[in-house]
Amino acid sequence: MKFKVLVSDPLGERGVAILKKEKALEVDVKTGLKEEELKKIIDQYDAIVVRSATKLTKSVLEQAKKLRVIGRAGVGVDNVDLEAATKQGIIVMNTPEGNTISTCEHTWSMLMAVARNIPQASQSVKKGEWNRGKFTGSELYGKTLGVIGLGRIGRQIVTRALVFGMQPIGYDPYISKDSLRQSGITLVTLEELLKKSHFITVHVPLTEQTKNIINAKAFELMQKGVYIINCARGGIIDEKALYDAILSGKVRGAALDVFTSEPPKNNPLLALDQVITTPHLGAATEEAQENVAVAVAQQVTDALFDRGIKDAVNVPSLDAESFRVLKPWLNLAERLGRFYTQYFGGSFKKVSIRYGGEVTKYKLEPLTIAILKGLLTPICGETVNFVNAPTLARERSIEVNESRTTQIGDFSNFIELEVGTNGDKNVVLGTLFGDHDPRIVRVNEFRLDAVPTGVVIVIHNEDQPGVVGQIGTILGKNKINIAEMTLGRMKKAKKTFALTVINTDNDVSPKALKELKAFKPIIDAKVVKL
Ligand code: NAD
Repeated sequence: MKFKVLVSDPLGERGVAILKKEKALEVDVKTGLKEEELKKIIDQYDAIVVRSATKLTKSVLEQAKKLRVIGRAGVGVDNVDLEAATKQGIIVMNTPEGNTISTCEHTWSMLMAVARNIPQASQSVKKGEWNRGKFTGSELYGKTLGVIGLGRIGRQIVTRALVFGMQPIGYDPYISKDSLRQSGITLVTLEELLKKSHFITVHVPLTEQTKNIINAKAFELMQKGVYIINCARGGIIDEKALYDAILSGKVRGAALDVFTSEPPKNNPLLALDQVITTPHLGAATEEAQENVAVAVAQQVTDALFDRGIKDAVNVPSLDAESFRVLKPWLNLAERLGRFYTQYFGGSFKKVSIRYGGEVTKYKLEPLTIAILKGLLTPICGETVNFVNAPTLARERSIEVNESRTTQIGDFSNFIELEVGTNGDKNVVLGTLFGDHDPRIVRVNEFRLDAVPTGVVIVIHNEDQPGVVGQIGTILGKNKINIAEMTLGRMKKAKKTFALTVINTDNDVSPKALKELKAFKPIIDAKVVKL
């Protein structure tokens, strides 16, 4: 049987060659298609290979009757409607590793260019000037380099820092000291890193936790004359705070490959001599383009011919029938993980999973992987998938235990997640209602009936009359509509406490959250996105 593959964005030649070499594949390369054009032809194809230009929206995917595989040459899959693809049983794959070296090398190019004023000096010479005094720079030797995020790229940065005689220090709350023993880097707190570094470079994904991680407060802690480099994602550094820090002289230079809005429009940073920039070029080398092209071509052919699934973002490696049966459980498992990290935090070391009842009839490994994927996605972002989640957990020295029980308590089937964070242990219990509806039914001592989907506010409060009414008033005032609400209660030291879980129809602004937290009986309130 012959499969048809559409390559709808420019793909490295070696990738196209791999696809064309497969005799049982018919390959069409048609780039620059408009949405309507794509909709008209997509029903002919079994697989599509994209970069970031092709938008695989819900309405495009609705026409993709035969599509089984979407291959993204690169990391970010925000151009693919993952939910729609998953519902249609389409495997979405990315290639998270091909860009690492190129992005690391670009970061070093930017760091050295900003330290020696190379773009500014080059422009000046081209204008006919010969102004040597104006461009005096800064040596790297002996300087402290602060690396925020010690994943694939961060670690490559560290190796090269040592060669320059720099002292690398790093901040990554999710990486264990053990896994960095041979690396030559000292792990420090964020505060220490900000205070000690002469150069600061960020290599974290953009998540709720890392958004504006370098903000006005962080700049206050830094030394005068620090250099800032962002070749990760726009939004990790607060652009307004960076602008102010450059004007005040705190920051001597900034090198930016990425912006909150790309291409940047009317961004005042671009008017500053101290800022050097590139148009998101981190991965823009021939080698990286080839790496991702070769990887995606290999992955897509392997998936089509049932030779294995690698780096799938939305499905584990299972045959179609097991996937159909396990799908609601996978959904529950991943949501329990996501809930845990967003509510309790991500610096955990031990994950114990207990499966009870009906679910124990199935293969549990994919469910455990789904939990790990859920736990790690709020930390590592979209690069976590069903294939690399166990490796990422191992790299972080997270101990994972899995057990089954036939003892049934209140539920005929359940997944219990017990996770150790800094000496504490927290438990989240989930079940399926009616075989497919996920529910969180316990969070530590609180018994609940919470629907783990969409935007959820979790409120820990003293149980007093009027609390629920006031919560409703605050949300109403902020135009936030309540879709569902559940409340669990428990007694401790003669007081009653409640955990209130609210599903909302729309996002919760920081202002609304602040108002909730300011209301006295509320001990804590968090927004969790599932
Ligand atoms: P990775 O997942 O391997 O590493 C990210 C690291 O950040 C992980 O070790 C994680 O534990 C850590 N982290 C998560 N939250 C953190 C927090 N709050 N504080 C400190 N550390 C935290 O990812 P990677 O492949 O190294 O990529 C790093 C970044 O580079 C990503 O944002 C990626 O999108 C970006 N990137 C940019 C380009 C470009 O073209 N400029 C190309 C490739 C990757």
